[in-house]
Amino acid sequence: MTTNRTGRIGFVSLGCPKALVDSERILTQLRAEGYETVAEYEGADLVVVNTCGFIDEAVDESLAAIGEAMDRNGRVVVTGCLGARPTTVTDAHPRVLSVTGPHNYEAVMSAIHQHLPPPHDPFLDLLPPQGVKLTPRHYAYLKISEGCNNRCTFCIIPGLRGRLASRPIGDVMREAERLVAAGVRELLVISQDTSAYGSDLRYREDEWHGRRMETRFQALCEALGELGAWVRLHYVYPYPHVDKVIPLMAEGKVLPYLDIPFQHANARILRLMRRPAHAQDTLARISSWRHTCPELTLRSTFIVGFPGETDAEFEELLDWLAEAQLDRVGCFKYSPVEGAAANALDDPVDEDVKEDRWQRFMQVAARISEERLAEKIGRRMTVLVDEIDRDSGAAMARGPGDAPEIDGRVIVEGGHGLGQGMFAEVEITGADTYDLLAVPAGPDSNPL
Ligand code: SF4
Repeated sequence: MTTNRTGRIGFVSLGCPKALVDSERILTQLRAEGYETVAEYEGADLVVVNTCGFIDEAVDESLAAIGEAMDRNGRVVVTGCLGARPTTVTDAHPRVLSVTGPHNYEAVMSAIHQHLPPPHDPFLDLLPPQGVKLTPRHYAYLKISEGCNNRCTFCIIPGLRGRLASRPIGDVMREAERLVAAGVRELLVISQDTSAYGSDLRYREDEWHGRRMETRFQALCEALGELGAWVRLHYVYPYPHVDKVIPLMAEGKVLPYLDIPFQHANARILRLMRRPAHAQDTLARISSWRHTCPELTLRSTFIVGFPGETDAEFEELLDWLAEAQLDRVGCFKYSPVEGAAANALDDPVDEDVKEDRWQRFMQVAARISEERLAEKIGRRMTVLVDEIDRDSGAAMARGPGDAPEIDGRVIVEGGHGLGQGMFAEVEITGADTYDLLAVPAGPDSNPL
């Protein structure tokens, strides 16, 4: 593995405030996907030029900016208002990599992915590999901090990305507000360690709309909950203060959804992994969270076959999972990452044992998922439509318990009139292992 694994992107933004919002949206997504933005053309792997084409002078300025980026870098993706007249761009600069029009943020991201794909590593990346292919305008990732202060032994992120560096809360809130104003209906809060947010700043106060607020996990959840969008929390560790956001979920301020990478349940393995909050009694915590917020969906990831994991320790993990009744679960077979401290641990687990444990783990997880989804049949639910299936006409939607790309879907049959980015009330009519079936329950859908 190389340490220089992120793509480096130069960005030139021209034009009016609307173009600026587009630029911010693209930059937000780039940052969430792990790209690095650089100030120099020469150090960039690719340059994005967001153009203006409003008047002749702006066209000239845009063409000059593209020319400069071509001369000094040579790999240029053009977007923005001038992109609505692609031949004006390609006549002047035939070797640009791609030209897309204004407010077509998905097309720019797709061009960037095509020419500078972000590598994916399940142990390093915050987003799923598919997540970078399809990021429709109705949801957006909101990255609240970089780096991590933990030292999990299987992970090299602190070495690669440095110590925790939280963004001041006013900064995060202004970005979230802009995203919602631009049509985003769901904010996916991400970082390496979301519940540690602000600890590096000693929870310093910052301002948002004249309000003084601490840069702190709970304050951020409260403020995001005022924006009128769905707020979904990822990568939360079970520190005691997490208990304080569960009532916000019960009140409907943030989605009743927690993505907590538990990784294991056995105390010795968690210690060997040096996991944060490993001493917490997680079963008791889960039970109390569900008591406060019965609708809570819990997602987690696990590692099986960690060095030294015995049969008994694996069985303990299976029993724990059966008792915890986690709704959504992913599992990796342990594999060494170059530079990780866990590589020095004794007793590697045989590959066929890892495979067998993974199969058994996933069987238990699938059974739990099936049973928990079946309990939802007959209930009403608000869903957000991701897309319409052209062949069947069904709406592919998600409920509060489904994060995009990684969780299941709610398939709404007969959802004529529904479209991407609409909320809809549905009644759940069926379930399989990971997905729900539904029909529209009322007329109160609203367009993006
Ligand atoms: S919490 Fe652990 S696994 Fe997550 S980034 Fe930090 S060191 Fe890596």
